Amino acid sequence: MKNITILGSTGSIGTNALKVIEAKKEKFKVIAMSAYSNLELFKEQVEKFNPTYLCIGSEKNAKILRELYPEKIICFGDEGLKAMGALEEADIVLTAISGAIGIEATVEAIKKEKRIALANKETMVAAGEYINKLLQKYPKAEIIPVDSEHSALFQSMQGNRKEEIKNLIITASGGPFRGKSLKELEEVTIEQALKHPNWSMGKKITIDSSTLVNKGLEVIEAHMLFGIGYENIEVLVHPQSIIHSMVEFVDNSIIAQMGAPDMKLPIQYAFTYPKRENSRVLERLSLKTLTELTFSQVDNKVFKGVELAFQAGKTGKTMPCVFNSANEVAVELFLEGKIKFLEIYEIIERAMKFHKVREMDSLEVIKDVDKETRKWVYSNYARD
Ligand code: NDP
Ligand code: MG
Repeated sequence: MKNITILGSTGSIGTNALKVIEAKKEKFKVIAMSAYSNLELFKEQVEKFNPTYLCIGSEKNAKILRELYPEKIICFGDEGLKAMGALEEADIVLTAISGAIGIEATVEAIKKEKRIALANKETMVAAGEYINKLLQKYPKAEIIPVDSEHSALFQSMQGNRKEEIKNLIITASGGPFRGKSLKELEEVTIEQALKHPNWSMGKKITIDSSTLVNKGLEVIEAHMLFGIGYENIEVLVHPQSIIHSMVEFVDNSIIAQMGAPDMKLPIQYAFTYPKRENSRVLERLSLKTLTELTFSQVDNKVFKGVELAFQAGKTGKTMPCVFNSANEVAVELFLEGKIKFLEIYEIIERAMKFHKVREMDSLEVIKDVDKETRKWVYSNYARD
């Protein structure tokens, strides 16, 4: 029996993880769960999975939960989240929170040498260098990727040595605006950007997929997770989202991982690795109905998110943190109707230009840079 902590149980990854766990009750037990604002769904989940530890966004909601469940240990806010990452009883911590807010809980889980099933890519982007240093200090801690591309890369690497890897090829669906021109993107609406062709996900990552900033984040995430240089990471548009990514080896052999576009598979793999298991909740890919698998280059003149990420990644140190924080605020402002779609790129580019790169040697530096970047974006773009 493996004890699992789910940070962000009410989100898209969180609810999929609960489906995976429910289908394998004899193997997995949820011991801790966190939500932010969705109290109603959280209560349903608590009743069904009966975890010992709960964490919610506000003190007010924590009070409500304490009255409902006096026998449980209940915390709230950022400090509560941190405590959830540090629980001794957990075997696996699934980080399914959206945004850099997930960093500290991940750090705590590393210090406790847990397996981290990492969905929260922003942590690896904003704090990757720091996290990697920490992993050296706590060698029993391990990060198993949940992001479908990184799970695919990780799966494709199994049984091979790192020195044998030539290139990582990350596939991208291209999002809802694939093939559009810059002119056509000028007046894009929130509703249009929220319509992803292949995946159903939280709002933030759905916008990131429409700008392709998500692919940029994934390039940095791949570099940080697998230690492969940026010159050996490629992005390829593959609209069918069937090949989730590929590894090219020194002998020019390419190994790809294929599957239905369903996050339950990478979630379960991160739980069961190094084993694979059958489950009734996993979707099967029907090759008989697959008519084509196509590939093309990213239109970097329109979708600037990928190139900006390469730039941030190659600069390294605190620059990826700026890339991430600027994007987080830009997406928030876009979803509030305060900026236009293309201003998301402008914000990231300007924030990166404005930033003076620092060594990433402590959590404090990351917090400072994150705060400074957010402040800069708000003060320049948060119009009424
Ligand atoms: P969602 O927006 O659906 O869920 C986010 C979760 O985090 C919810 O449980 C939410 O709580 C909680 N949350 C939000 N803000 C805070 C906060 N300030 N403090 C604590 N908790 C908070 O996101 P997704 O599930 O789509 O994505 C989660 C992560 O996984 C992201 O990093 C994303 O990039 C990554 N990912 C997601 C994929 C997907 O298919 N969805 C695929 C690959 C990666 P509440 O709802 O209660 O407010
Ligand atoms: Mg992905």
